Amino acid sequence: MTLLGAGARDAAVRHDPDQTFPEIRDAVRKLCARFPGTYWRALDRDRAYPTEFVRALTEAGFLSVLIPEEYGGSGLGLAAGAAVLEEIHRSGCNGGACHAQMYTMGVVLRHGSRTQKEAYLPKIASGNLRLQAFGVTEPDAGTDTTRISTFAKRVGDTYVVNGRKLWISRAEHSDLMVLLCRTTKREEAAKPSDGMSVLLIDMREAVGNGLTITPVRTMLNHATTELAFEDLVVPAANLIGEEGKGFRYILDGMNAERILIAAECIGDAKFFIDRSSSYARDREVFGRPIGENQGVQFPIARAYVQMTAASLLVDHAAALFEAGAPCGTEANMAKLTASEASWYAADMAVQTHGGFGFAEEYDIERKFRETRLYQVAPISTNLILSHVATHVLDLPKSF
Ligand SMILES: Cc1cc2nc3c(=O)[nH]c(=O)nc-3n(C[C@H](O)[C@H](O)[C@H](O)COP(=O)(O)OP(=O)(O)OC[C@H]3O[C@@H](n4cnc5c(N)ncnc54)[C@H](O)[C@@H]3O)c2cc1C
Repeated sequence: MTLLGAGARDAAVRHDPDQTFPEIRDAVRKLCARFPGTYWRALDRDRAYPTEFVRALTEAGFLSVLIPEEYGGSGLGLAAGAAVLEEIHRSGCNGGACHAQMYTMGVVLRHGSRTQKEAYLPKIASGNLRLQAFGVTEPDAGTDTTRISTFAKRVGDTYVVNGRKLWISRAEHSDLMVLLCRTTKREEAAKPSDGMSVLLIDMREAVGNGLTITPVRTMLNHATTELAFEDLVVPAANLIGEEGKGFRYILDGMNAERILIAAECIGDAKFFIDRSSSYARDREVFGRPIGENQGVQFPIARAYVQMTAASLLVDHAAALFEAGAPCGTEANMAKLTASEASWYAADMAVQTHGGFGFAEEYDIERKFRETRLYQVAPISTNLILSHVATHVLDLPKSF
């Protein structure tokens, strides 16, 4: 479905948020059509994991698009991954159950040893190993990641891990987890961001042997959890890269994550715009379609304008990432604008649907709850504004 009337645009000169990767988009749309609103609503009620949906995406190869061909993936760039996630969200589905399978492996790919890459990446590409969990946030550190205190103490050829993590999504549905922990205490490190390391945790061995997972029920169906580590023994061979340099490794993974999640927001915004345009054309009140009223059509048009502007930023950030250029600011700005565009569109969709915006069977209220997350996670709006203020505009740092 096009959002502008037939013949009303020239994709060659205008930015068309649908023009990239048409075959991938079409294939993702077809797959998603097998998982309609009824499927997601039932899972949402029970806070259950979309196992069949994740299996279908895995079997179709969509979650391994970023893994190089030599390790069994498609070897495509970040923009292709963004197109996959955008279409999932535009279709009314949700990639939150499995999007980390796409980008978390980047830490292994970019910083792992040859042995680690050969051991893990082909199995992640085939779906035999699920790398869905990314363990960074802690209850007492919040956004200030350098204050994490989960500690891995080197003992012979192992690390012994103790501490807590919060909001670690998909931990119950993952075979492996990328864990950021301290190997040197903050006060003993040369700078706060030193002394953190990345360990690959084999969840199949860890759970019940030093790792306890407790689900956290939230306003959306996101399979998020709290983790407690009590003397969990991890082989030293599971250290990714060099000890003490983990924060740097995690940061470039975070840029990929922010760009891909921004693409999910663009998909959500398109979902709300598609549904609202269609509803406003069909719903008649006072003897005419509600969409004839400019008070109804202008917010839909505004949502389209905001989504298009945000999608340009997402494309720009993805292009920089693919070129290997610094893209921290652009990834942040893409995530901020896309999450605000999707939230504006969500609010607009509720208003356009009137009472039906609140009815489960329209899927608007579910997507409304889902898309609200993105202004908080994986990084909250204030922290992005602070990054732009201090790193781009040279304003004084407030913390
Ligand atoms: C459903 C869900 C899934 C998640 N999944 C994962 C996951 O898989 N892995 C993972 O590691 N984490 C995950 N997170 C954590 C997420 O990344 C954090 O919630 C997010 O980064 C915000 O951190 P916080 O909740 O600790 O908020 P806090 O850091 O406590 O901040 C609270 C509020 O204060 C604001 N604030 C804080 N400091 C400042 C400041 N200096 N200036 C201005 N404003 C400030 C923030 O912007 C925010 O609005 C998830 C969170 C949720 C809710």
